[in-house]
Amino acid sequence: MKSHAKAVVIGGGVVGCSVLYHLAKSGWTDIMLIERSELTSGSSWHAAGGFHTLNGDPNVAKLQAYTVQLYKEIEEISGQSCSLHLTGGVMMADTPERMDFLRLAHAKGRYLGMDTELITPSEAKAMFPLMDETNFVGAMWDPVEGHLDPSGTTHAYAKAARKLGAEIVLRNRVVELTQEVDGTWNVVTEQGTVKAEHVVNCGGLWAREIGRMVGVELPVLAMEHMYLLTEPMPEVEEFNKSTGREMIGVLDFKGEIYTRQERNGILLGTYEKACKPWSPVSTPWDFGHELLQPDIDRIAPSLEIGFKHFPGIEKAGIKQIINGPFTFALDGNPLVGPVQGLTNFWCACAVMAGFSQGGGVGLALSNWMVHGDPGFDVWGMDVARFGEWATLRYTNAKVRENYSRRFSIRFPNEELPAARPAQTTPLYDTMIANNAVMGDSWGLETPLWFAPRGSEPKDVVSFHRSNDFGPIGEEVRATREKVGVTEIANFAKYEVSGPGAEDFLNRLMTNRMPKTGRIVLTPMLNEFGRLIGDFTIAKASPRGGEERFMIWGSSAAQKYHMRWFEKHLPKDGSIRIHRFDQTLVGLSIAGPKSRDLLQKLVDVDISTTAFRFMDFREMAVGGAPCMVNRITYTGDLGYEIWMAPAYQRLVYKAIKEAGEEFGLVDFGMRALLSMRLEKNFSTWFRELRPIYGPFEGSMDRFIKLEKNDFIGREAAAKEQAEGPKLRRVSFIVDAADADVMGDEPIWAKVGGKDYGTVEKPHGYGAPRFDAGGKEVRGSNAAEGASAVRGIVDGDWRVVGWVTSGGYAHYVEKSMAQGYVPAALAENESAGLFEIEILGHRRPARVNVEPPFDPSGEKMRT
Ligand SMILES: Cc1cc2nc3c(=O)[nH]c(=O)nc-3n(C[C@H](O)[C@H](O)[C@H](O)COP(=O)(O)OP(=O)(O)OC[C@H]3O[C@@H](n4cnc5c(N)ncnc54)[C@H](O)[C@@H]3O)c2cc1C
Repeated sequence: MKSHAKAVVIGGGVVGCSVLYHLAKSGWTDIMLIERSELTSGSSWHAAGGFHTLNGDPNVAKLQAYTVQLYKEIEEISGQSCSLHLTGGVMMADTPERMDFLRLAHAKGRYLGMDTELITPSEAKAMFPLMDETNFVGAMWDPVEGHLDPSGTTHAYAKAARKLGAEIVLRNRVVELTQEVDGTWNVVTEQGTVKAEHVVNCGGLWAREIGRMVGVELPVLAMEHMYLLTEPMPEVEEFNKSTGREMIGVLDFKGEIYTRQERNGILLGTYEKACKPWSPVSTPWDFGHELLQPDIDRIAPSLEIGFKHFPGIEKAGIKQIINGPFTFALDGNPLVGPVQGLTNFWCACAVMAGFSQGGGVGLALSNWMVHGDPGFDVWGMDVARFGEWATLRYTNAKVRENYSRRFSIRFPNEELPAARPAQTTPLYDTMIANNAVMGDSWGLETPLWFAPRGSEPKDVVSFHRSNDFGPIGEEVRATREKVGVTEIANFAKYEVSGPGAEDFLNRLMTNRMPKTGRIVLTPMLNEFGRLIGDFTIAKASPRGGEERFMIWGSSAAQKYHMRWFEKHLPKDGSIRIHRFDQTLVGLSIAGPKSRDLLQKLVDVDISTTAFRFMDFREMAVGGAPCMVNRITYTGDLGYEIWMAPAYQRLVYKAIKEAGEEFGLVDFGMRALLSMRLEKNFSTWFRELRPIYGPFEGSMDRFIKLEKNDFIGREAAAKEQAEGPKLRRVSFIVDAADADVMGDEPIWAKVGGKDYGTVEKPHGYGAPRFDAGGKEVRGSNAAEGASAVRGIVDGDWRVVGWVTSGGYAHYVEKSMAQGYVPAALAENESAGLFEIEILGHRRPARVNVEPPFDPSGEKMRT
């Protein structure tokens, strides 16, 4: 074993081997993988080997599609077969709601280059005759599904990596990790110490233990998982013989079941409700190639549904039940990337679908390590997406919830209950008493809307407009016409201080920094000129002669942004960044009466000229020391008031009392988001993400190319010079009883013209056959004749995608934001666009100026 390496990958499961392969392929050959036993000694050896491309997060779905495409490549390089069976598969919907869910998934696939089709239950049965199709209302066919040999695939990655120069050391456990002052890692193993520049945690079932070696508690938990294998079945053999094909994979939402052909029989796996964590606190190091004791009682309810839906399977004898552990993060997606607070310590763990995701994870991580950027939008699997609140017990509750809902529909207005409430502000009980419906905002309880007195504060979950529609409308109207107050503790807040703080921020941000007492809005770019942040920054008065800036941003991106800030801090410690998190909370008041209200609570002049739009002041509000921004996300006259938690009740009470004469109402996060829509304001992680350039994001006025050499300037200048390919635009949609949710396709009547922004189908899928063996393509039978599969329909073409939207209550319009080719972005013609909502194409019109207060007069008043 060598004593130095550029990177050490810990763990020889499918993920570690994929990371090793991708690093080697990127040109890093001084790398080694250290495995405590043999390759595949964690979850990888007993996996069911299924793969698919669909994922709730379209960006993760893309990386899954990449994984499937990769298998041919590693087979060729390694000479090792993965035993790939590209059968295709169907997802079966048993209710209209589940069919709506499939329509949404199918619609997303249009611009992701996925080749899915909506089909009838009978069409599905033709490909999997063991089902009773009368249990279902429809299905979605995905040609890029199948199964493979998990062990062969892991070895194929490993062999391919070795061929490219990587070293693999087996039967050698990493027992300790320490770091030198210069950042070098000491990887202490049973066979000696390796000095490494980078360490990658691919520890699978032991990822938590490896995290603990460096003082990090990763939010990952192993769950027991069972699948059964039947004896050979004559029906399967007969189908194979008569059609010359294998049976397809089937996913049954109702039973939380997946099933497919395995040799001459059937494999059927369950995500049972009564799920069970495995080794919830720590994983024993001596756990080897072992299986767990099957527990048929636990999966009996799922099997009961399974046998009803697939009666053909019930008759078969069960040959074996496999029970093995594998790991999950809170939301079921992997934990990938550099861990904030550490240098060169990387994660690629909690990969629950290693054979769907392993390739994409390896590619993104190796890009990140070698080139400084994952190269894709990997927020959905970024290790930075969970905060400190994701403790061991929190993780346990959330992972169990996620597992038991693996194939359940998550409605757009659905808040999941496990592990809540976690963090609360001092106003939590008051908000509950005010009949607030609370939501989870990065681990913090936040009022979403206020139910009418006497009614139960609860969302009726739906893809359509629901019981919050009326009350939110009232909150919006009262705020716009009088004044409203809302909690804004769920923003990220930072203070940057020290000599040179302004220069530091100027280097990071695209806009000029404000003068003392003023505020600016500014995006932040990476070196490639992509959007990685969007902030409100105020310059506070110097303290102790030191420059001081307050920054507000997206709550969920706190660790993501801290990681970036820390990476760029001067090494001499002259600049400090403090992340307040919940040690600073806030309230926002907005509406035409908000100034009159605030004036009653402060002892300074806050008239139009004394406290201007985009001013920042430290002042006492209702007797409490606060910071006040004259700005709100409602786009109305209004203020954001920030205070230590100990003062929040005092300030809220003062606002409520002073507001009574003005007709003050409480409003929640949903009303706030509705109001920002009618101002065409963007949101981070929806409109603004690292896949877009600043001009694509229509952030032009915040990009000051001439100001200095800020990070990403060169790439941004190039984007401007060449002209952005896409533009973010707002739409007014002729919706019925459902508004856009995000990720819907945007159609345009462009004739034969190809704007080139839509991915073409990748053409790597299984053809679909009917029972008679005839290939069927593009029937979309479940949709009826009007809907056409694919991205072209006569003169119409999918040209973009929705990022977010909803109902803009004050202007009484359904609105959406999204990306379209730049050439179409300012075309407000009626009849040019349609947006697909729940499978129905609705007329939509670009709306360049915001429908509420287009001149911005109200907020400047
Ligand atoms: C019953 C079952 C069915 C499944 N079915 C599917 C499926 O159909 N499709 C699918 O995609 N996925 C499936 N999975 C999940 C799949 O197995 C995992 O996603 C995948 O194996 C994760 O791989 P990994 O490399 O992250 O972890 P692991 O396979 O757990 O590998 C981690 C490796 O790290 C090594 N290691 C840990 N700590 C150290 C240390 N300190 N020093 C050295 N080495 C160390 C371990 O020995 C182990 O070999 C299934 C899992 C189970 C249990």
